[in-house]
Parts: sequence; C-alpha cells; structure tokens
Amino acid sequence: MTSTTVWPKGIIQVKVPLPFSLKWVNSYLLRDEKGYTLIDPGLHTPESIETWNAALAEHDIVIQDIHTIVLTHQHPDHYGLAGWFQQRTGAPVLISPRSYAYIVKMWGKDRSYAAELVALYRQHGMPEHLLDAMPPHLESFMDKVSPQPEVTFIEAGGVLRMAGMDWQMIDAPGHASGQLCFYAPERKWMICGDQVLPNITPNVSVVPGDEGGELEQFLGSLKQLGAYEVELAFPGHRDPFTGFGLRIEELIDHHKRRLESIAERVKEEGCTGYAMCERLFGARIAGNPHNLRFAMSETLAHLFHLEQRNEISSSIRDGVIVYQA
Ligand SMILES: [Zn+2]
Repeated sequence: MTSTTVWPKGIIQVKVPLPFSLKWVNSYLLRDEKGYTLIDPGLHTPESIETWNAALAEHDIVIQDIHTIVLTHQHPDHYGLAGWFQQRTGAPVLISPRSYAYIVKMWGKDRSYAAELVALYRQHGMPEHLLDAMPPHLESFMDKVSPQPEVTFIEAGGVLRMAGMDWQMIDAPGHASGQLCFYAPERKWMICGDQVLPNITPNVSVVPGDEGGELEQFLGSLKQLGAYEVELAFPGHRDPFTGFGLRIEELIDHHKRRLESIAERVKEEGCTGYAMCERLFGARIAGNPHNLRFAMSETLAHLFHLEQRNEISSSIRDGVIVYQA
C-alpha cells in the first residue's frame, strides 16, 4: 500500500503512520503557483519522517516547496511535526488562538495539563494507580511534538487561500477546542479535521480548562457543518469521503443513543464517572493509559451533558462525584 493518494486539483493525501489504533493521520498537500500548503503534518516519529521522505520524493517535491503549514487543531497526531517542517522550510505555522492555548497547556514550559487532568479524573473516581500512569503517559508525547513551532494565528470567519481557491474558516469545537474546518465553495469541498470522520466516531472529550460543554459544542458544530453543501470531505483519519451530511446525521444519532443508554444505566445504579467508564468500555480499558484517557473523557462528556439537561444529577460522597437519576 502506497502512503499517498492524489485527489482532484492535485491534492495529495499522505497517510502518516500513528502508533495507535487509528493507524494513520491524513496530511494534505495543496499546490498553488508558489508551491505547497501542508495541512496537519502528523506525529513526530522516525516512521513518520520515513513516510514523508518517501512521499515528497514520489511527487518530486522539495521540502522547501512547502510555503505554509496549517493545523486544523492541536492534537499531537496532527501537530507533532509542525516544528520539524518549520525548521526545514521556514514556513509559518497557522493555527487558531484557542487551539494554541491548549498546546501551551499541554506542552509549554509550565505545562499544567497533566496535573489538572489527574485532579479531574480523581474527582470522578479513577483509582490512584491509574491516575499515577497519566502524567508519564502525557509526558511521553513531548518528543513526538518537538521541536515546537513559532505559530501565526488564523481565526474562524476569515478566508484562507489554498490550492488557488478561497477556503472559509469555520469554528468547529467539541472534539478539540479551537478546531478549524475549511470550506471551499468553488468546489464544495470541506477539510474537516477530526470533526467529521467516516467509519469512526470522533472522540468528544472533557478536558481541563473547558469542562462541561464539549458534547453540546460538538453537536452544535455538527448541525452548523450540516448546513454546508459538501461534495467531498477531507478528514483527519481514514479516507476522503462523500455523503458528508449523512455522516453528520449518523454521528448525531450515535450520541443520542449513547446519551439514552448512559441515562438508563445511571437510573439502574448510580455511579462515579470512572465506574460508568468501566461499565461502557470494560475493565480492560484500564490496561492502556491512552485508551483509558479517551474513554474516561468521553464518558464524562456524556455525563456532563446529561446533567446539564437535568436528566441526571450528581452529589459528592467522600470527595468523589457520584451520578444518580
Ligand atoms: Zn483530534
């Protein structure tokens, strides 16, 4: 399997490998008269660099042809190589201010993210030995996001020129605060980051600093994106796809069912966020800090949403938050 695919208008999709169950992240190279815009370069690993060297050679691209680097959002699998590319190209790295605020929180000099995440999970009943595994797990990403780039801010509501077309920048929160999608009316194309993915459900996570509104924001953003006429969507994972509107409906449905089933389970038996996470994902999830973090934060996103809608309530017992009907 080759790691690149060429789409209309010469857009090159590069599948940059990931050491997680997601397998790869999509980077896109968009050509114009000056060279290339690179979207979401991938995680910084030796395998990613090998893939990039091969991909650039395959398409006769010299790395200095890349004049702009654009990030849909701050997650390490999208952001990690931005600084590496910037060092080699001098290209500006464009990102939204809110996404960048998370980068500073996660990987800045005074990074506070891990401690805040541990405090959040502790409140929701995660056992101490699992909490202990979180900071080293998060710290293990440092070399995969280094060197870190100098960034230039772009804002939702503006327009970005890529591949000789104007792309509208759309705020798309919920999966990642500050995420941007890019819509080209000329071709009805949408670069959608991780907000809408084919085959897999984008993770919606409660994260420190933005607690509570994630699922509401995600569902609101999906409704907003659903209003766009999209002929081809370029996602952050899996392959470009058609049927964007239909996929959005499926995702909204998925969360509706998930919310119903969680509300039902809370009615059966009140429990902590961690106990609900185990009930939903199985005790085995605890064996992998990466998967546990996604499962726990997604469980909390649903519980918080149900509580905001007054379908369940919570109280504090022995310092831990317990949900009940
Ligand atoms: Zn993401």
